[in-house]
Amino acid sequence: MRFDILTIFPDLLASPLTEGIIRRAIQDGKVEIAIHNIRDFAADKHAMTDDRPFGGGEGMVMKPEPLAATVQHVREQVPGGKVVLLSPQGRTYDQALAQELASEPRLILVCGRYEGVDERFRDHYVDLEVSIGDYILTGGELAALVLVDSIIRLLPGVLGCADSAANDTFSRGGLKYPQYTRPRVFEGDEVPEVLCSGDHAAVSEWRLLAAVRQTLNRRPELLATMAFNSQEEKLLKKHGLLDAVRERQRGARSE
Ligand code: SAM
Repeated sequence: MRFDILTIFPDLLASPLTEGIIRRAIQDGKVEIAIHNIRDFAADKHAMTDDRPFGGGEGMVMKPEPLAATVQHVREQVPGGKVVLLSPQGRTYDQALAQELASEPRLILVCGRYEGVDERFRDHYVDLEVSIGDYILTGGELAALVLVDSIIRLLPGVLGCADSAANDTFSRGGLKYPQYTRPRVFEGDEVPEVLCSGDHAAVSEWRLLAAVRQTLNRRPELLATMAFNSQEEKLLKKHGLLDAVRERQRGARSE
C-alpha cells in the first residue's frame, strides 16, 4: 500500500515513520510512504500557501492552487489514489473505517493548517474527509499519522502472530479481555488461575466472558454490533451475561 502525505510541515511526520512496526513494514516493502511539501507547489516567489479569508474574520485559509498542484504532482508520479482530507468536519474515524481504508491500494492524505482549506479544493479534489474525533488539532499531521499507523497494522503480514490484530479491541466490535504478564503476583494481586492452567479451551472461555464483562462495564453501547455463535451464547447464558447483552442490543435497535 502507498501513502502520499501532503503537508506544509514535513519534519513533523518524519520520526514516527522511522520506528517500530511502521519502519519494519516500509523495510519489508509492504508499505511506501512519500511526504510532499505543499510549499514546493506554491506559484508565487514567497511560497505562500495561505491567505486571508474572503468576508473577513480570524486566521488564514489554505489556498486551493498549491494543494491542487500537489495532488496533481503526486498523481503524475503514480496515477490514482483516494484523496483524504483530515478535517474535524469529516466522518469520525473508527476501526471499521480503518478496515475500509486498508483495502485501498493508495491514499493521498491532505493535512490542513490554520483555519482549514479553501472549500473549492474540497469540492474538486477530496474524496473523503476524516476526523479523528470531536476536538480541534492545530493541523492535520497528527491525524494523518493516526490513520497511517492504524491502517498499516491491518495490512496482511505486517503484524506477526504475537501482536495479531484479530483479537484487538473493536475487531469483534467490543473491548479486548484484560491481559496479564509476569510476575504472577503483583502487590498481592494474583493473575486469574485459569490463565496459568495450560487449558486452552478454559482460557478461551474465560477470555470471551472477560471481554463481554469489560465491554458491559466500560462501553456497553459497543455490544450492539457484537455477534455471538450459539456456543458462545450458551456460555454467556451459563454465566448470567446473556440477558444483559440482549437488553443492550435491543436498546440500541430501538434508539
Ligand atoms: N477552523 C477549523 C474548524 O473550525 O473546523 C479548524 C481548523 S484546524 C485548527 C486546522 C487543521 O487541523 C484542519 O484543517 C485539519 O486538517 C486539522 N484538524 C484539526 N482537528 C482535526 C480533527 N479532529 N481530525 C482531523 N483533522 C483535524
